[in-house]
Amino acid sequence: MIIVPERAIADLIGSAECFTAVEQVFAAMARKSAYNFPVVRESIGYADALYGFKSGFDRESLSLGLKSGGFWPKNVEKGLTNHQSTVFLFDADTGRCRAVVGGNLLTALRTAAASAISIKYLAREDAKTLGIIGAGHQSTFQLRAAVEQRNFEKVVAWNYHPEMLNRLAEVAREIGLPFEAVDLDRLGAEADVIISITSSFSPSLMASQVRPGTHLACMGTDTKGKQEVDAKLVAASSIFTDELAQAITIGECQHAIADGLIGEADILEIGAVITGDVKGRRSADDITLFDGTGVGLQDLAVAAAVVDLAVREGVAIEVDF
Ligand code: NAD
Repeated sequence: MIIVPERAIADLIGSAECFTAVEQVFAAMARKSAYNFPVVRESIGYADALYGFKSGFDRESLSLGLKSGGFWPKNVEKGLTNHQSTVFLFDADTGRCRAVVGGNLLTALRTAAASAISIKYLAREDAKTLGIIGAGHQSTFQLRAAVEQRNFEKVVAWNYHPEMLNRLAEVAREIGLPFEAVDLDRLGAEADVIISITSSFSPSLMASQVRPGTHLACMGTDTKGKQEVDAKLVAASSIFTDELAQAITIGECQHAIADGLIGEADILEIGAVITGDVKGRRSADDITLFDGTGVGLQDLAVAAAVVDLAVREGVAIEVDF
């Protein structure tokens, strides 16, 4: 069995490899050769923790396994990241454990890869201004991955806790893009692409604030009850997601579905756009919205890529198991 510890991941894999791995598995999902198992996420009644599993199998790459972990809100007092996860990969031929891989950095990279994929396939080619709603742990990964997809000239951002925007500003400076903290009216009026990555339980961005032609990547809503944008905005958009079953239960679409504003048939999976079976953006005025809920197959895809890289570079830790 191979172990790739959390501390080794950053030196092994970057956003480009994660982009490719996630793009391939989204396409495999569209071909129905990769599927996710139902998500388990439970409050365990200890340490205020939320714990769960995301798992699946990709018959094309033979990635089989699960990501297990969750959210421990008091970790910050211990100098640890609140979100903790580990990926377990199994040999699809024998069921033996093939690898244990640190999942914290990989989660951020695979989530940023998903929204970057949505930008590649759905945003207008001439998109110039990137808007970001949210300034937490995931936000800088989102920014770095997004700027690889279009020739953005400016970043505008809003956060519920404005004092947190400094770290996004720093990353924008590092990338060489002008950065401005704005209110949501300006963000909607100026941004061609908007990424939302917050843990909000009520909508921040309203339909009236978004102009035609915008692409939205709603990445923060991954649990029942969370919500980042107005359900009317979802309904006014061409809607895409990573996985329909998750979008309607734990994704941004859950609210528009519950309000009866959209039906399941209004939501398309991005994998089908990648394979060319479904058209993405229909016109320059189309508002496109990607509901990125985060699927287990993304975790398996990037973990498998990291294991291959660790073996190739001779840094994989092998243990008898
Ligand atoms: P974080 O705790 O580091 O940051 C939380 C962010 O949400 C901050 O910007 C904070 O200011 C904002 N926020 C908090 N309360 C808010 C409110 N009431 N209204 C608006 N904004 C509010 O979290 P993170 O690690 O950056 O993750 C952000 C979100 O993304 C979480 O909901 C997380 O579960 C989700 N997430 C999704 C995926 C996926 O695959 N879709 C993957 C990882 C994380």
